[in-house]
Amino acid sequence: MLFEMWTSFIIYWILFTYSYANNNYNNFYKGHELIRVLPKTNEHLQLIRHFEDNYEVDRWSEILQINRDIKMSLPQNQVSKIKQLCKQYGIDVTILNNNLDELIKKSDHISKQYKKRIQRSIKDRIPHHLTDYLTYEQIVQFLNKQHNRSPSSKNFTSLFSIGNTYENRSIWTIRIGKPSARRNILMDCGIHAREFISPATCLYMIDKLIDEVNNRKVSILSIFNIYIIPLLNPDGYEYAQTERRMWRKNRSPNNNNNNYYYYNTNSNCMGVDLNRNFGYHWMENGASTNPCSETYAGPKPDSELETQSLQKFIKKSSQHWDAYLTFHSYGQYWIYPWGFALYMPDDYIELKNKAQIGSEALKRVNGTLYKIGSAANLLYESAGGSDDWAKGVGKIKYVYTVELRPSDDMNDAHAHFAFMLPSTFIEPVGQETYVGVKEFLRSLITSRRQISLSQKKP
Ligand SMILES: [Zn+2]
Repeated sequence: MLFEMWTSFIIYWILFTYSYANNNYNNFYKGHELIRVLPKTNEHLQLIRHFEDNYEVDRWSEILQINRDIKMSLPQNQVSKIKQLCKQYGIDVTILNNNLDELIKKSDHISKQYKKRIQRSIKDRIPHHLTDYLTYEQIVQFLNKQHNRSPSSKNFTSLFSIGNTYENRSIWTIRIGKPSARRNILMDCGIHAREFISPATCLYMIDKLIDEVNNRKVSILSIFNIYIIPLLNPDGYEYAQTERRMWRKNRSPNNNNNNYYYYNTNSNCMGVDLNRNFGYHWMENGASTNPCSETYAGPKPDSELETQSLQKFIKKSSQHWDAYLTFHSYGQYWIYPWGFALYMPDDYIELKNKAQIGSEALKRVNGTLYKIGSAANLLYESAGGSDDWAKGVGKIKYVYTVELRPSDDMNDAHAHFAFMLPSTFIEPVGQETYVGVKEFLRSLITSRRQISLSQKKP
């Protein structure tokens, strides 16, 4: 009896160890440190930017302000140098994790355990977009399946590509809307590769919207055609899924940038931060000219295929767009332009009110709290984002960047997962975001009605 117990214990232990170690990643992040620093002066802020530009330090917190905690990950070979410089300039350093590889594996392990548990407890097969962060191929299959789900989904959705990436992947887009829909909404996810919860949330919303297509009731889809690009940066995403979990940029090479007028930078470092590449006040703030930096803005504005594809699509046949929402993680922010500078657009009160409506509805689902504000005021000034371009050049009125869970507040129980939110969170994040977005869209319908009613008055 005792022998049997021991045998089963040993088998369990072997399986546990195996599943913990058996993720898709090599051990690239072994010895990478995650630290927290508190900048107290402008000089400190400058030093942190210097780290990002010259030491390949990867800032995880979107916030860069005096007296706000910042999380940064340090490559193993830079750890001692960075710590020494922090000490020299009087910046306090707290080590949150001295082996990033472990945090990645921990998140992966929680996801796998969750999947096993949920598949055991529920008899019907759970759709895998709710238990896994799907690969690019699986996302393409998912979109085709959704499009072909029923006669009404075939009639009321269309699936097309808005362009190809450097590695020749199609950037798939789905339109969902009933024939009466005359107004247009655009949403995208996954512009930053490592923010896995973002594409997962777009897939969740696509699934729910197609439920509504099958439903005969009048819905927002009678008013709006909703276009969703679930993965704007598929090359980066695939790379993050298989090689480097913390990859943020696309995968275009930078070894032939000397043709460009703006920055002649030849480098073996790959990739451009697409959300610094859009040509509206490009490179004015918070972006890097170093191809090895995570916030490298590219050799010139709009240099990247993904950027160009989105721009062409927004401009296409001068289609009128009511709103553009771009989903990132993390931090729990619902933010509006501008990002390039501290001042606000003229209509910021309207933008703020609608963000409030969306985030309050979102909060009612699971109690998740979002902060609202302009990008530069709430986070830090950074130019070249798709949001600023959509408003400044694309002339879309309601433009938002939504930073999904977790919170970046260190007191939040899940803050430490940062970009590695386990797949356990796909469903709750999807649920609340879908409710928030729908309520926001409904508010656009009523405000348009109010405007037309007031215009009719003598
Ligand atoms: Zn992002």
